[in-house]
Amino acid sequence: MSRRNFIKTSALGIGGILLAKCAPGNPENTTDNEETTPKTISKPVVISTWNHGLDANKAAWTILEKGGNALDAVEKGVMVTESDPTNRSVGLGGLPDREGHVTLDACIMNHENECGAVAFLQEIENPIAVARKVMEETPHVMLVGQGAQDFALAQGFQKTNLLVPEAEEAWKKWKESEEQKKPGINSENHDTIGMLAIDEHGNISGACTTSGWAYKLHGRVGDSPIIGAGLFVDNEVGGACATGLGEAVIRIAGSHTVVELMRQGKSPNEACKEAVERIIKKHKNIEGLQVGFLAINKYGEVGGHSVYAGFNYALRDNQTEKMIDAQYEMEW
Ligand code: ASP
Repeated sequence: MSRRNFIKTSALGIGGILLAKCAPGNPENTTDNEETTPKTISKPVVISTWNHGLDANKAAWTILEKGGNALDAVEKGVMVTESDPTNRSVGLGGLPDREGHVTLDACIMNHENECGAVAFLQEIENPIAVARKVMEETPHVMLVGQGAQDFALAQGFQKTNLLVPEAEEAWKKWKESEEQKKPGINSENHDTIGMLAIDEHGNISGACTTSGWAYKLHGRVGDSPIIGAGLFVDNEVGGACATGLGEAVIRIAGSHTVVELMRQGKSPNEACKEAVERIIKKHKNIEGLQVGFLAINKYGEVGGHSVYAGFNYALRDNQTEKMIDAQYEMEW
């Protein structure tokens, strides 16, 4: 490299570093004032998608309030929803695919960027726990289908019939109906649980688990088990998760996008809103296309945003336990 080019490159390099350091949301950034008064971190905090998040948060909170770690909290938290037979969109009791099989997707990610996932997994009640085993016991990130089930059984998980009578009934009705020609996604046939937690050490983990789009094609995998789409965590910045039409989330690497927007200086609310706007921009037809993002930053600040009205999330921290209606772009 010539000296001239070297200087040019170095100058650009330094400029880049300075710019990055000055980006308002870079958690390392401090104004003169902030250097002496660092921003306080609210912790522990746990947030989860939809109403079922309240019970899931309760389970997570029993771990967080005792000083437990965020990874255990998110795993145990979403297991409550997975094991609830009355929930039609996650784990046991989830609505099946068009062939009548309940197939599950899940992933988990910790504060050290370690992650594990399972997809198209059948007859195992707690896919999130299998995803954690993939993360901790294998050199891989994702196992799918029969391989994922074989692995789960070898790890001591039991086979369970996940198709409860009520879900089977609903599937039979759907088969007889006109809807089967075009399975749409709407507020009745989807609802992943995505959970993000920051523990008392300031470490963030996330979990995401679903039975996916009701009456989907057999073999379909959505965004929920895909690291960067359904879930992403970077402990230096924050974490994000998604719910809604997985195909749309995958197309913009949704959760990773939200985390990167927070890295650039956006608040969790602003980052989720910009990701939603990108989804709208990238789809020719967004009629009925619901997606919601949920995010937490490393200060414990939270936010959410969706394409259509109706997305809400559960928050639990030292002060409060409540549901929050996310902001949105459109009315149904
Ligand atoms: N994102 C999930 C999927 O596409 C479904 C949902 O959240 O409703 O499988």
